[in-house]
Amino acid sequence: MGQRTAERLAYHILRQPPEEAIKLAVAIRDVKKLIRPCHICGNLDEVDPCAICADDKRDQSVVLVVEAPKDLAAVERSGSFGGTYHVLGGRIAPLDGVGPEDLRIDELLLRVTAEGSPIREVVIGTNPDMEGDGTALYLARVLEGRQVEVTRIARGIPTGSSIEYSSGAVLSDAILGRKPID
Ligand code: ZN
Repeated sequence: MGQRTAERLAYHILRQPPEEAIKLAVAIRDVKKLIRPCHICGNLDEVDPCAICADDKRDQSVVLVVEAPKDLAAVERSGSFGGTYHVLGGRIAPLDGVGPEDLRIDELLLRVTAEGSPIREVVIGTNPDMEGDGTALYLARVLEGRQVEVTRIARGIPTGSSIEYSSGAVLSDAILGRKPID
């Protein structure tokens, strides 16, 4: 959380009656207690594996790689994807000191190369901006020669805007129109 966000939150809490502040504190405590990252995909849920990984009706052969759980949530709301996910926990951002080793890239490789892995396609759904594109290229390189097709969601999402705030229809087009990375 940035400093401005923290300040806004502090002012918001100060304006609330005490019982509302307590409610918020309890909610924060419960998030810490109940929500955990799924050890398979990195999604946040109250159970591990998460409800999506545990759902055998989902297509286990396609994995959509996203930066954050909120991107996963946006795609789920759109109802346009029936496969599974992999949450990176960010994107490669050298200026912010975030390198590949800070993301769940090894975990993705392990999923793809595991004995009997059902994964046939990895769809890269990082955001369409400079760092998201750089991360997509990096992933394509490390996945090269791994017996999976690597695709990238189509550029229906305007450059610089984000998956989180895209409409369901735009996300749906972007996923359906995905193309191989070369
Ligand atoms: Zn999961």
